[in-house]
Amino acid sequence: MSDAPVTSMTPVTSAHILIVEDEPRMAALLADYLKASGYTSAWLANGLEVVPCVKARRPDLVLLDLMLPGQDGMSVCRELRLFSDVPVIMLTARVEEADRLMGLEIGADDYICKTPFSPREVVARVKALLRRSGHSAREASPLVLDAQGYKAAWQGAPLDLTPIEFRLLKALADAHGRVLSRDKLLDHVHADQRAVTDRAVDSHVKNLRRKLDAATGGQELIRSIYGVGYRLDLP
Ligand code: CA
Repeated sequence: MSDAPVTSMTPVTSAHILIVEDEPRMAALLADYLKASGYTSAWLANGLEVVPCVKARRPDLVLLDLMLPGQDGMSVCRELRLFSDVPVIMLTARVEEADRLMGLEIGADDYICKTPFSPREVVARVKALLRRSGHSAREASPLVLDAQGYKAAWQGAPLDLTPIEFRLLKALADAHGRVLSRDKLLDHVHADQRAVTDRAVDSHVKNLRRKLDAATGGQELIRSIYGVGYRLDLP
């Protein structure tokens, strides 16, 4: 791999947005616009699922509709504030609702009215709020990957990886902290058109881990989960 300093690559993961909206078309539209702006998103339609999801997935921001089945947005927001400072933007159907909500201290960071609905406006507010809250921790990830150039860097210093090691690292990074089985990892390295066995995956992961350990001063970024596979833990 090249020794050139890595300066112009995009961070490995962008901010992750949780969309809570019971109208599927509205949610899909938001997801599309967020994706086009480089954000990943997940979608929930029921208010009762929000708190467990925020605990488990720790999104960087929540877009929270006010009227929801299960539990309304206001009560969800209050509950979130008991354990999390995740930025929350409330989506309301009417301007008067937004006005009324602003007077109540439910802990939301911003309010957007859905009529008339402007996904562009939502994305602009998401960007502004992430910047303001300094909550874009993931945007400042020390690990950057350039999939085109097969280059990886840790805190700006290039990592000297083989193509297979790069693919493994990319696959693990794209999994956003979820465990990947050896089979899944095999799928990614198979693009190399060489047969790779389970055991070979282990050995490539071992080499990758050694290089990451050296680059990070011993932070164990790659965890092996016994009997399951591997996971990348970014600080
Ligand atoms: Ca609704």
